[in-house]
Amino acid sequence: MSDCLFCKIIDKEIPGDIVFESDDILAFNDITPQAPHHVLIIPKKHIATLNDLKNEDRLVVGEMVKTASTLAAELGIAETGYRTVFNCNAEAGQTVFHIHLHLLGGRQMSWPPG
Ligand code: AMP
Ligand code: ZN
Repeated sequence: MSDCLFCKIIDKEIPGDIVFESDDILAFNDITPQAPHHVLIIPKKHIATLNDLKNEDRLVVGEMVKTASTLAAELGIAETGYRTVFNCNAEAGQTVFHIHLHLLGGRQMSWPPG
């Protein structure tokens, strides 16, 4: 989608600090990290929110989750712990309307989230 920030990172129209890429997904460091490790994992297909997922998107969402687990191991936070978050719509704080899985780790997390 032409006016989507994350589609522009996928298309390399704007730079991203990319840590992993496959045919269907991209992972890059968050520009405003909320933890020592903060990676965003996105599908290359534009999907605005979790509410817009179709049955056919199940595989790519699975790849996103598996990639979070793989990256956590590579970052050395698999055993100490990490958090994965999808924010959906305004009350959850979604600001970029192209679904993204936050992978956060490297510090003690609190619960409930703010
Ligand atoms: P959310 O609030 O769940 O929609 O998350 C959007 C995330 O995108 C935030 O954590 C932002 O810091 C991050 N973000 C915004 N612009 C960029 C960018 N150009 N490169 C990397 N991350 C970004
Ligand atoms: Zn997009």
